[in-house]
Amino acid sequence: MRDLSELCCQNCSCPDYGKRGLGNLRWGAWSGKGKKLRMALCKTCRRSFSERKGTPLFGSHLPEKEAVSILRHLADGCGIRQTGRLVGHTKDTVNRYAKKAGSHAQTLHDEVVAFSPGDDRGAVRREVGLRA
Ligand SMILES: [Zn+2]
Repeated sequence: MRDLSELCCQNCSCPDYGKRGLGNLRWGAWSGKGKKLRMALCKTCRRSFSERKGTPLFGSHLPEKEAVSILRHLADGCGIRQTGRLVGHTKDTVNRYAKKAGSHAQTLHDEVVAFSPGDDRGAVRREVGLRA
């Protein structure tokens, strides 16, 4: 089971949106097929969300272990068809997870890059008289 400190409120209008470790979350009811997913409740905005919301596994119908296995094979450089053969799913399923993970990674990249400091190595090199 996932630790609550790994999660944050997913309601973008909540003052605690995206902030981890504030103690504003508690576990709620179970959800999903077979009631295998937990719902987290935000005490600040009183909204609930799936523990998978905000992850590439949100909306996934596969058990977490199988979905993660697909993503690990892809991350290790296996192709779509090869991954499908190795994990026992069709290439269409593997493709779907690759697209979900790709768009999730793109969003994460854009957020991280937006807060990254600028690269001023060229300016520093020019100041000390080196070619940039
Ligand atoms: Zn909230």
